[in-house]
Amino acid sequence: MSFRSKKMRLLEWFPDAVISTRGPRSGKALYLTFDDGPSPTHTPALLELLRRHDAKATFFLIGREAERHPELVWRIVEDGHSLGNHSYTHPRFHTLSHREQWHEVQRTDQLLQGFDGRRHHRFRPPRGVFSPTLALRFAFNRRNLAYWSYDTLDYQGREPAELAARLRRQPPRAGDVMLMHDDSDCCRRVLEELLPEWKQHGFTFPALPT
Ligand SMILES: [Zn+2]
Repeated sequence: MSFRSKKMRLLEWFPDAVISTRGPRSGKALYLTFDDGPSPTHTPALLELLRRHDAKATFFLIGREAERHPELVWRIVEDGHSLGNHSYTHPRFHTLSHREQWHEVQRTDQLLQGFDGRRHHRFRPPRGVFSPTLALRFAFNRRNLAYWSYDTLDYQGREPAELAARLRRQPPRAGDVMLMHDDSDCCRRVLEELLPEWKQHGFTFPALPT
């Protein structure tokens, strides 16, 4: 098992303005990112943990879920985290026409603008799948496709303690963008253990720049 996939290493060759994997290397920053929220079951506890450790993160929200749970999106914004766009319905992008894909992006951007006032948000395609046409359109519009450099594999149903042990063995490096998910309590339980350790090692946790 590897936390750094070959695909992500290839994507690192793209200019950051088009496709980003790592974050800005300012000091010893780790960029926590959470996909697939907001979730009334999981987001409140995650926010509480982040607050306790004074950590900021970037939440790549599913538009439809943000619409269902606006109070959670407000809490995310009020706590100083950044919003990212993770499509409106989390479809399989390769099954959609280009027009439908773009609509998923636009609709979610408009929705998120109601919370943070920003017209555009970093976009992370569902399952990381994007077509060359979509990438071109993003580049043409000076928009950013937001990937990650470190996949925590928190979606594979492992025990949090086991995952934490694996993360200790292959620790993240400064500037890593960590892929995690806000649709289970796995990443929160891993972070309960690791955030204090990472802080001791001198890491800081800023949100990705908007
Ligand atoms: Zn997702």
